[in-house]
Amino acid sequence: MKKYIIAIVSLLLVISLAACGGKAGGSKKGFVGIAMPTKSSERWVHDGENMVKEFEELGYKTVLQYAEDVVENQVSQIENMISQGVDVLVIASIDGEALTNVLEQANAEGIEVIAYDRLIKGSEHVSYYATFDNFQVGVLQGQYIEEALDLKNQAGPFNIELFGGSPDDNNAYFFYDGAMSILQPYIDEGKLVVKSGQTGMDKVSTLRWDGAQAQARMENLLSTHYTDEEVDAILSPYDGISIGVIAALKNIGYKELPVITGQDAELASVKSIVAGEQTATIFKDTRKLAEKAVEMVSAVLEGEEAEVNDTETYDNGKKIVPSYLLDPVLVDIDNYKEILIDSGYYKEDEI
Ligand code: BGC
Repeated sequence: MKKYIIAIVSLLLVISLAACGGKAGGSKKGFVGIAMPTKSSERWVHDGENMVKEFEELGYKTVLQYAEDVVENQVSQIENMISQGVDVLVIASIDGEALTNVLEQANAEGIEVIAYDRLIKGSEHVSYYATFDNFQVGVLQGQYIEEALDLKNQAGPFNIELFGGSPDDNNAYFFYDGAMSILQPYIDEGKLVVKSGQTGMDKVSTLRWDGAQAQARMENLLSTHYTDEEVDAILSPYDGISIGVIAALKNIGYKELPVITGQDAELASVKSIVAGEQTATIFKDTRKLAEKAVEMVSAVLEGEEAEVNDTETYDNGKKIVPSYLLDPVLVDIDNYKEILIDSGYYKEDEI
């Protein structure tokens, strides 16, 4: 009997040791915690899936969580990952300024952090930042409007309204500033007119990138400022916002829609482009971003330096975070097949 008890106890010990597996959570390569903002936007679903696939192919163990745009959820998900024993965290923050304390906890456990797509501010414990050239995203949106209205040659004036992203997301300012670097001179010379007078991120931002909020703001703008004239262009930083804006325009009876930009090449927006409604979007290949994040994690775990191509732009208030910026690509009706289908990002029958 005693022998059996000893055997059972030893067996249980072996099982529990195997389950703990030391710091790497059972994987020899390492255990990666991936915190994403929300599933309500397709791009983050792709980002999460791409990362899990790549990490697992390389032998890493992963835990992936979405916080449905609730900051407190994201903080407790990260706390949870820390207590599960992750080795590295990859975080696309909801509020870039809300993670200072939880990153202190991570640091106390020796866990390094990669900021994914969105800069994490107010913490020195951010090792690297993998993102796209966010200023260039805005430049591409601004240039698209410039070309679509032929601002270099036409006298105008043309009416434009501006939408910005979430004020707690550092990217939103880069997108807006990039776009305004192209559009502001035309506004200054009167070729572009913002009839509402609403310019600047303090007036045009959209909390949590919410399409319904954008729709309500557009309805308000239309009924207050566009009863006699039409709006010719909308600067929209994100496809979900563009879809909200389009709904407002259609509700009020627009048959010919203005030029409307966007970002992320989400399926609904690509379909809208094909249907002649939304005019353009910005494609950011989440497969490439996932690859970069994976490279950064591997470097961190192997005690090596990760490849970066920008060491100046992303000051988070505590440090300049070494970054890798990927190139965003403008997509419209003329090139969507080549960029989105030929590259295998979407299948033709999905669109
Ligand atoms: C991302 C964009 C995205 C937006 C809304 C930004 O931080 O860079 O790609 O459109 O968040 O999810």
